[in-house]
Amino acid sequence: MRVAIIGGGAAGMMCAATLQEMNSATDIFLIERNHSLGKKVIISGGGRCNVTTGIHDVTTVLTNYPRGNKFLTSAMYGFPPEAVYAWFEMHGVPLKTQPDERVFPVSDNGEDVVGVFERLFEKSRVHVLVNHSAISVKKNGKQFAIVCKSKQEVLLVDSVVIATGGQAYRQTGSTGDGYAFASELGHTITPLAPSLNAFFTKEQWPADISGLSFQDALITAFGNRHIFEDRFSSHIRGLVDLLFLHFQR
Ligand SMILES: Cc1cc2nc3c(=O)[nH]c(=O)nc-3n(C[C@H](O)[C@H](O)[C@H](O)COP(=O)(O)OP(=O)(O)OC[C@H]3O[C@@H](n4cnc5c(N)ncnc54)[C@H](O)[C@@H]3O)c2cc1C
Repeated sequence: MRVAIIGGGAAGMMCAATLQEMNSATDIFLIERNHSLGKKVIISGGGRCNVTTGIHDVTTVLTNYPRGNKFLTSAMYGFPPEAVYAWFEMHGVPLKTQPDERVFPVSDNGEDVVGVFERLFEKSRVHVLVNHSAISVKKNGKQFAIVCKSKQEVLLVDSVVIATGGQAYRQTGSTGDGYAFASELGHTITPLAPSLNAFFTKEQWPADISGLSFQDALITAFGNRHIFEDRFSSHIRGLVDLLFLHFQR
């Protein structure tokens, strides 16, 4: 059995590790366009990588995903936060839970999280193909044929997992290619929507109140012709709905 996973981010790495733990005889090809795995994972949580939540009740966790709770239900019950915590500790990354329920490596270093996978893959049949950018995935009889940019060989596999991420922080390699692959294979793509957004203002004063946060915020922005108004209200414990930052474009 040969399986290709396109995308060596959080989902792709965990998928490869789980497949390998389920069946060590499977040949797994983890295809990543960057020169290393988990570029976005390493910058997440301000470089500390917030791996899960300290909230153990799955129903409560799911209420924190207003748009995705139905989709996430089976995955969340199959691999709940406590199991995620235990998995990382068993694989050599001690974790800690902060008072706001976020869970980080004790080392506060996201690279330790990626390191777990790198070590696992070294001694298994996970073939890590970095510097490989998939450009097409086609059905080839019962198999799939994957072509990577500037590479001669066509990779033939029995199953393919698309784990190319969304389109946020494109500089980390996630440019949304997976939507085209999935669509070409006959899947339906639901409309995309951002879940975390920044407004940049002409005015400088927001920098002076950097760090000030609100829950349940109503934003009104005045343009030349339009007035934009929206309410940001997640009702999520420990999460702010609006945060002023000093970042400039
Ligand atoms: C600034 C920031 C902070 C964050 N902080 C947190 C946090 O603290 N906690 C948390 O849980 N989440 C956090 N997130 C969200 C988290 O990083 C993402 O949810 C997670 O990385 C998504 O994982 P993924 O595997 O789906 O996609 P990604 O991590 O985006 O991985 C997709 C991978 O696919 C590769 N790829 C794409 N197209 C191709 C192709 N054609 N060929 C080969 N490879 C390809 C990309 O290079 C990339 O490595 C943060 C995100 C950002 C941007």
